[in-house]
Amino acid sequence: MVIWLQIVVGLMMASMGGNTIGSGGEDYSGPHQAMMFSIHADVARNRQVLGRDHLSESVAVAMAQVPRHEFVPIGLRGSAYANNPLPIGHGQTISQPTIVALMTDLLALGPEDRVLEVGTGSGYQAAVLSEVLTHGQVFTIEIVPELARTASRKLAHLGYRNVTVHSGDGYLGLPEDAPFDGIMVTAAADEIPPPLLEQLKPGGRLVMPVGGQGETQWLTLVSKDLEGEIDRRVVLPVRFVPLTGDHTK
Ligand code: SAM
Repeated sequence: MVIWLQIVVGLMMASMGGNTIGSGGEDYSGPHQAMMFSIHADVARNRQVLGRDHLSESVAVAMAQVPRHEFVPIGLRGSAYANNPLPIGHGQTISQPTIVALMTDLLALGPEDRVLEVGTGSGYQAAVLSEVLTHGQVFTIEIVPELARTASRKLAHLGYRNVTVHSGDGYLGLPEDAPFDGIMVTAAADEIPPPLLEQLKPGGRLVMPVGGQGETQWLTLVSKDLEGEIDRRVVLPVRFVPLTGDHTK
């Protein structure tokens, strides 16, 4: 019942949003709806990830709202709503929509939370977080300056006013804006960067893929309790590009 309600709400949002018309008049509402069906089916099939068979309502609505075609290269817009990762240049990718939805949901965010994303890439995940945080703030940091610049312009152009894009090495986090209620890392490393654990608020959650390139990487959920104790849960095997920067040298 809940899942059908979500699909109906998602389809309504995708068709009402007005975000699904491309600049050349292309109508992406059909592919966007198909993407929502595919995400809901994946979430139901992998119910162990969230401990339920459906997305939270705020995440489902966000996924149905954000115009993914705006965040992929123009030549790939026809595939923007395939439930796949896609190249965005500089050897980087925009993540698979199901993974974006699951990682967002795992953070269990409230509307007023402050969240750090490491790995802005295209800006798509930041836009999804922005929709969930209706009264909160998204800080996102990208190590490839050109990607940071493009994402920043795109997010501003689309009206995502509660997102701040930084250019730099996200391994170090953003100490000046810490602490964060949630931290999401969208590139894989062998270990969770200690500065990020420090910048997580007591009661907060961090999600990131852990593992090397060519090894199985595990999407890992870290919870920090009110006493500052850390609990780790391995959730799902995934494949992400590497977290780069000085820590790898
Ligand atoms: N979240 C992105 C989106 O919605 O398009 C997709 C992220 S892509 C899978 C991973 C991104 O992490 C790449 O853009 C890459 O340049 C960036 N990255 C890798 N290492 C980083 C680091 N140390 N600090 C910040 N960004 C990093």
